[in-house]
Amino acid sequence: MDCIFCKIVAGEIPSVKIYEDDRVLAFMDINPLNDGHILIIPKAHAATIHEISEADFLAVMSVTHKLAAAVQKTLAPEGINILQLNGEAANQVVPHLHVHIVPRWSGDGLTVSQWNLAPGDMEKIKELADQIKSEIAN
Ligand code: AMP
Ligand code: ZN
Repeated sequence: MDCIFCKIVAGEIPSVKIYEDDRVLAFMDINPLNDGHILIIPKAHAATIHEISEADFLAVMSVTHKLAAAVQKTLAPEGINILQLNGEAANQVVPHLHVHIVPRWSGDGLTVSQWNLAPGDMEKIKELADQIKSEIAN
C-alpha cells in the first residue's frame, strides 16, 4: 500500500521516533507547527476513526496521554492542542489515522480553526442529539 505512515512503521522511510509498542508508534512531525509537535499513529493501517478498531484507538489515545505529560515536562508549554483530523473536509492530509500533540504558547500565532461561535437552534440541537443517541453502538 502506498501509505507514507505505513512506510514509516515498516522502516522504509526515516522518522524521528520517540515511542513504540505493539500497536502504536510516535514520531516527531517534520513540519512542526511549534516545538515538540508529535504524531501518534496505530501501526495497523486505518485511514480514519471509522476504520480503526476501538482497541487500537484506545491504545493511540493512551500513548497520547503519556506523551503529553512528557512534552509538558520537556517544554513547559502554556497549553497543548490534541488534534485528530478525519477526511479531506476536516483538513486530513495523510490518510493514516494520527493524533497530533501541538504544544501552545499564548501569542504563538497559531489558530486551530476559524470557529465562529454563535448560539444554535435549540430545537435542532435536541433533535440531532436524539438521532445520534439512537445510533450509539453498544
Ligand atoms: P494531517 O493529515 O493534516 O492531520 O497532517 C499530516 C501531518 O503529517 C502534517 O503535520 C505533516 O507535517 C506530517 N507529516 C507528513 N509526512 C511526514 C513524515 N514523513 N514524517 C513526519 N511527519 C510527517
Ligand atoms: Zn498506512
